[in-house]
Amino acid sequence: MAVDRLLPTDEARDLIQLTRDVADKVLAPIVDDHEKAETYPEGVFATLGEAGLLSLPYPEEWGGGGQPYEVYLQVLEEIAARWAAVAVAVSVHSLSCHPLMAFGTEEQQRRWLPEMLGGATIGAYSLSEPQAGSDAGALACKATAVDGGYRVSGSKAWITHGGIADFYNLFARTGEGSKGISCFLVPRDTAGLSFGKPEEKMGLHAVPTTSAHYDDAFVPDERRIGAEGQGLQIAFSALDSGRLGIAAVAVGLAQAALDAAVAYAQERTAFGRKIIDHQGLGFLLADMAAAVDSARATYLDAARRRDAGLPYSRNASVAKLVATDAAMKVTTDAVQVLGGYGYTRDFRVERYMREAKITQIFEGTNQIQRLVISRHLAG
Ligand SMILES: Cc1cc2nc3c(=O)[nH]c(=O)nc-3n(C[C@H](O)[C@H](O)[C@H](O)COP(=O)(O)OP(=O)(O)OC[C@H]3O[C@@H](n4cnc5c(N)ncnc54)[C@H](O)[C@@H]3O)c2cc1C
Repeated sequence: MAVDRLLPTDEARDLIQLTRDVADKVLAPIVDDHEKAETYPEGVFATLGEAGLLSLPYPEEWGGGGQPYEVYLQVLEEIAARWAAVAVAVSVHSLSCHPLMAFGTEEQQRRWLPEMLGGATIGAYSLSEPQAGSDAGALACKATAVDGGYRVSGSKAWITHGGIADFYNLFARTGEGSKGISCFLVPRDTAGLSFGKPEEKMGLHAVPTTSAHYDDAFVPDERRIGAEGQGLQIAFSALDSGRLGIAAVAVGLAQAALDAAVAYAQERTAFGRKIIDHQGLGFLLADMAAAVDSARATYLDAARRRDAGLPYSRNASVAKLVATDAAMKVTTDAVQVLGGYGYTRDFRVERYMREAKITQIFEGTNQIQRLVISRHLAG
């Protein structure tokens, strides 16, 4: 099918086509088995890396794809429409490269960025703790300054790609209060770093989410990103970009649910006609389509502001709020369109609905997005 999207360049159009080809060939045939068996799709991220799809919004000179954010997000949306767990992991990898790209020294960038952006290594973002999620400034994991670096002790929670990722953006306490948090880039094989068993989640079964435990782990000075105490600023700056990734994932999920619902409604008959021809159901589908289109418009608007160098934090929160609420509603309505069949695992809409729920929670719950938006309004 021709690419029916507004894209800034022919190169971007080719990229979307490439993404569809890779997603249809590599992701679509195996997604159901892995999601049901809760197994990690070995090799999938290497394939995406080889296709150049892992670090699209980063500069080419460092191994990235050099694409505008609006293009990267539409690629992410295409991946999410086939496999949300993989799209989330791609988004988190991109998020995890942001601190080094935006706050690292040139020496640090030269050393680590090419392998991170080239897809040779996968990254994770480790801000949350068991007792500090929304209130990230309350985190307790401690990094104590010692000769040549820091000794880290404490627990982190909910790490997407935990135990599998090669490097971890660790946010740990080096002082008091919200200005007492620092950011570190920690390799997986650091002595004293271990991971919990994967959480038993409602969805996103194929990519593990784990805790991490630091037991007097040594992290050298050269692995601190930014200044001591700058950690929370770095974390929030990365989240502005990451929230747009989650908005795009949510739209991909919602689009997939809408497509499945329309296809089903064109086949299924009741009371002597196709169910799509019953106005009550046709209008439900129309509302779903309107929700998908308007959600996409909000993330594209925020991305274009980002690409133009304008402030976009408020817009990113609006996009995350609108897109993920839309995804929850559209996927729930898709189950309704399929009736009893929608409630079974024989049809993907059941999975889409479970997966949509997490988009309203991670990278800042939608209550926290409202907090960000209202603080901007309050000036
Ligand atoms: C599958 C999964 C993957 C994740 N991946 C990552 C990851 O890779 N890296 C990472 O660092 N974290 C990750 N997280 C953690 C996620 O970001 C947190 O779960 C989220 O930020 C919420 O924190 P919490 O769970 O501690 O909830 P809490 O902060 O305890 O919130 C509980 C409820 O209170 C509400 N609430 C809290 N404060 C306020 C307020 N001020 N006003 C109104 N309501 C409020 C919340 O909205 C929520 O409804 C992941 C979580 C999951 C489930």
